[in-house]
Amino acid sequence: MSVVNEFLFLDNDFKNSGVAQADWSTKKMVWIPSEREGFQSASIKEETGNEVVVELDNGKKVTVSKDEIQKMNPPKYNKVEDMAALTCLNEASVLHNIRERYFSGLIYTYSGLFCVVVNPYKLLPIYSEKITEMYKGKKRHEVPPHIYAVTDNAYRNMLQEREDQSILCTGESGAGKTENTKKVIQYLAVVASSHKGKRHHYSLTGELEKQLLQANPILEAFGNAKTIKNDNSSRFGKFIQINFDNTGYIVGANIETYLLETSWCIRQAKIERSFHIFYYMVTGAKDKMRDELLLEDFSNYRFLVAGHVQVQNQQDDEMFEETLEAMEVLGFNEEERIGMLKVCSTVLQLGNIEFKAEKNQEQASMPDNTAAQKVCHLQGINVTDFTKAILTPRFKVGGELVQKAQTKEQADFAIEALAKAMYDRLFRWILACVNKALDKTKRQGASFLGILDIAGFEIFEDNSFEQLCINYTNEKLQQLFNHTMFILEQEEYKKEGIEWNFIDFGLDLQPCIELIERPNNPPGILALLDEECWFPKATDVSFVEKLTNTHSSHCKFSKPKNLKEKAFFTVQHYAGKVDYNATSWLTKNMDPLNDNVTALLSNSSSAFVQDIWKDVDRVVGLETMAKMAKSDSAAPTASKSKKGMFRTVGQLYKESLGKLMTTLHNTQPNFVRCIIPNHEKRAGKIDAHLVLEQLRCNGVLEGIRICRQGFPNRIVFHEFRQRYEILAARAIPKGFMDGKQASTLMIKHLDSDPNLYRIGLSKIFFRTGVLAQLEEERDLK
Ligand code: ATP
Ligand code: MG
Repeated sequence: MSVVNEFLFLDNDFKNSGVAQADWSTKKMVWIPSEREGFQSASIKEETGNEVVVELDNGKKVTVSKDEIQKMNPPKYNKVEDMAALTCLNEASVLHNIRERYFSGLIYTYSGLFCVVVNPYKLLPIYSEKITEMYKGKKRHEVPPHIYAVTDNAYRNMLQEREDQSILCTGESGAGKTENTKKVIQYLAVVASSHKGKRHHYSLTGELEKQLLQANPILEAFGNAKTIKNDNSSRFGKFIQINFDNTGYIVGANIETYLLETSWCIRQAKIERSFHIFYYMVTGAKDKMRDELLLEDFSNYRFLVAGHVQVQNQQDDEMFEETLEAMEVLGFNEEERIGMLKVCSTVLQLGNIEFKAEKNQEQASMPDNTAAQKVCHLQGINVTDFTKAILTPRFKVGGELVQKAQTKEQADFAIEALAKAMYDRLFRWILACVNKALDKTKRQGASFLGILDIAGFEIFEDNSFEQLCINYTNEKLQQLFNHTMFILEQEEYKKEGIEWNFIDFGLDLQPCIELIERPNNPPGILALLDEECWFPKATDVSFVEKLTNTHSSHCKFSKPKNLKEKAFFTVQHYAGKVDYNATSWLTKNMDPLNDNVTALLSNSSSAFVQDIWKDVDRVVGLETMAKMAKSDSAAPTASKSKKGMFRTVGQLYKESLGKLMTTLHNTQPNFVRCIIPNHEKRAGKIDAHLVLEQLRCNGVLEGIRICRQGFPNRIVFHEFRQRYEILAARAIPKGFMDGKQASTLMIKHLDSDPNLYRIGLSKIFFRTGVLAQLEEERDLK
């Protein structure tokens, strides 16, 4: 495809589109709410008090209240590349702009500090080598909006300012976070190796870049699954840090991951899949390997609930080959590759172990131990020991070891917990190996560029502990954004000598963040949950009661009305109110694991298995397990010493998020907001309400709200004079006059409310909407 054609998907040819300038001013065009399209254009016919009569495009007249009307921008702003330039900053204009651009194939748009991208759901020719070349070394305004421009700017800033950079991709599932993350890495892999340098640099960076690119297919194979929303949904968050030397070469990289949702190993809805690797392996492993892994047909595995669910346009056996090749590139040897797959096969096989309830439901038995035998063969442990560890484990009571028969429920619970823990350990082991490979040069980077690919704000029908963690993360990220914007705006105002008490809107989010993370005085949600986990007889309901007693007067906390369920509470997040269902939170926070079984695994005859279970830090005693399995809401009674060493899931998450935030705070952040256009995975279709909802949740509208409090539109003096002198010709005497003086006279002549503008040293600043007014007057001249 020629460059000209590729350009069609990037450049903005808006000259003839939209409402014509004359129409806009004579017809008094505005936006009014529309059920179907979010907003529709209309022209004002009559104004009376709080009501306005407008005429729609089809000629129909309707009466709407003044509050419902949003101003329309002059046509010259159609499909603008940076929405911060819009003179009417409102929801309707933002939606209109994004939609119009999307329909023209322009998926990237800036909004001040944000880059907004709408998933095109089709391959666009905008990531080619030619396009990469085109973006190299260009300033943001010199080229059309693109993830490459964001990346290139971050890269150049890093080199010039010696300041670490971050690119933060957020958005809901299927919005394109991972795709854009990959584009960032691809771009850097090309740009950071194209420097003219010594020969050995080429081979070094060449290999490293290859490994960096190949790390992703491995992470995706083990960490992604097909869900209702996304055929390739990442079930974990990640932060990829790429280190550069001071000449701009990649010298190493490090990947950090967050909260792998291991529950996908054991349960999926009908058309969903577990992690990709299971399907790759069961279809792709042939002959000797198949025997060695003791693989069976899809229909034999209970943990692959719906059998072999296919992913459109994807051949699982080919993907298996690709994954193995990627492993090879990253330096996993044959033994390790088989070891990894054996763990996967074991996880599947664990699902096939069945227990029977005996003796009045009090004791479980395992009538057929075929599956257990396979598990033990694959993991190099003794089957009798394993069966005992599950059915009649020993635990300490006082100073003595006591054996206790488990109920069927407890045994089932133990097996599921083991499958999840085993997979989680495998994932972390893989990540550690990948990181070792990516850090091979051991050269200290001069600076780094980090890319965050993490789920955006979530409000589901049923919101659990995972949603609290992800929403907590997004509160922190939004706080970082608001704070960054505050700092930048303040700097600009200061530079221009404008007096202005700019409020740090980052502080707005603090109460909600504290409600979640405060350690004490009073303890927040996570701390109270921890406390409750160690409290005898505690339940999910008693946790919520404690929460309610502690925070009843907190401005961000409430109990949902009309809900009979006692284990519910509500948090007012910046993006909306979320009702959380605290059922199973004690269990989720403890994530208990049978220590009898883990002891066996860490002494396995296989060195690989031993390595995976090396440090059994997160294992909680059997006593805890038993109590938790009995009922979801039963609480453990752990000894004091356990409390000292055991870390809850909430604690670990808070800690890793804290670390991430510290890292991000020390970088210059670049925000990429990914938007899903519709839930049908269809190209060229925009569901207006869905997009508006996301703009609200991802902080774009919040950013605009903050912008409106300041002076978002700014023009340098000579431009202001040139464009609007026609409105105030009489104000300026003939002959030379400097730009500032002329602009000051002009604005005074125009009789603008002094609160609507500020005069800086080189520019004049306006509140939103003022310029549109001037444009309108200019048109009428
Ligand atoms: P999740 O939170 O579920 O991981 P995500 O935001 O990471 O979701 P992606 O996996 O990046 O979503 O994107 C979902 C799908 O949308 C991709 O598999 C791809 O088919 C399509 N897609 C996203 N972005 C693009 C793009 N820029 N060009 C073409 N297709 C895209
Ligand atoms: Mg993803």
